[in-house]
Amino acid sequence: MNGAALESRLMASLAELRGRLKAEAPLKDLTWFRAGGPAEVLYSPADEADLAYFLRETSSGIPVTVIGLGSNLLVRDGGIEGVVIRLGRGFGEIKIEEGSRLRVGTAVPDVKVASAAADAGISGLSFYRGIPGCVGGALRMNGGAHGRETKEVLVEARAVDRKGNVHVLPLAELHYAYRHCGAPEDFIFTEALFHGEPGEPAAILAEMEDIAAYREQVQPIKSRTGGSTFKNPPGHKAWQLIDAAGCRGLAVGDARVSEMHCNFLINEGNATGADLEELGETVCARVKESSGVELEWEIKRLGVPA
Ligand SMILES: Cc1cc2nc3c(=O)[nH]c(=O)nc-3n(C[C@H](O)[C@H](O)[C@H](O)COP(=O)(O)OP(=O)(O)OC[C@H]3O[C@@H](n4cnc5c(N)ncnc54)[C@H](O)[C@@H]3O)c2cc1C
Repeated sequence: MNGAALESRLMASLAELRGRLKAEAPLKDLTWFRAGGPAEVLYSPADEADLAYFLRETSSGIPVTVIGLGSNLLVRDGGIEGVVIRLGRGFGEIKIEEGSRLRVGTAVPDVKVASAAADAGISGLSFYRGIPGCVGGALRMNGGAHGRETKEVLVEARAVDRKGNVHVLPLAELHYAYRHCGAPEDFIFTEALFHGEPGEPAAILAEMEDIAAYREQVQPIKSRTGGSTFKNPPGHKAWQLIDAAGCRGLAVGDARVSEMHCNFLINEGNATGADLEELGETVCARVKESSGVELEWEIKRLGVPA
């Protein structure tokens, strides 16, 4: 990895770039786990046009990875090669539209989508109160909670591909399934159009408060965690399988299976990406041994080992 060389090469070839580039940027501070290595180069686009320019003018040989608020990421200790893209202020707009709709930039935190919908008297989006990511992550993960998921409230999404072409994708073209989006891997979402139903702001806010209170009781939301580590296998709850396999409280270094919710892994101090990944793999192996069920990671593991 030579971030400084890649950064200079990019600067020299992208005269019209308005966003920021940073070599060897630590990603620890940008993920909930607070673990893992740096981005070879971190790029914060100014807006969608700047992002499209970057993607169009750079060689497809340079790997590109987009991250949101890092609440579903395990970054390995050797960091992420190539360019990591993190959307910021230029993707932060929320517009209320006719017919109980919200047009939202993908850097907007899910919690703000819920609040803006409540303020505008739009019900049906309160579940976002409980998901600590941003809209880009929700679109890619089909984020959901409390009986609803992103695909139920989405009208369409805008995305830019690796060549810099902008696409508007209606819901059907996103091929959603449980915690899965079928849009091409290289698509970077820039905007979402959500719909809800007319509702009473006070009632929606009360529903959001209930969601927040419930979360505090059942999830270690103040810890350094990546949320649910594994998807629920068909017909099972991942946490029950993990509990039955005797993994509650299991540790590797400073990485531990949460005592409170055993599908959550916690960084209790200085856990490395390798500690967290080894712990997850150990849980998988023990669950397979005790129940025969193969767990699938929900958390996205990115980058290379140290
Ligand atoms: C305490 C806690 C509780 C959680 N509870 C829930 C829950 O109830 N329900 C739930 O679904 N999830 C939950 N999660 C997981 C996580 O919050 C969701 O998966 C969330 O949608 C991830 O969003 P993010 O912005 O953090 O994305 P990141 O974690 O940064 O990235 C996740 C994936 O999205 C991709 N991505 C991010 N932005 C874009 C973009 N603009 N375009 C294309 N791809 C993009 C990344 O490449 C990566 O593959 C929880 C996590 C924590 C820590």
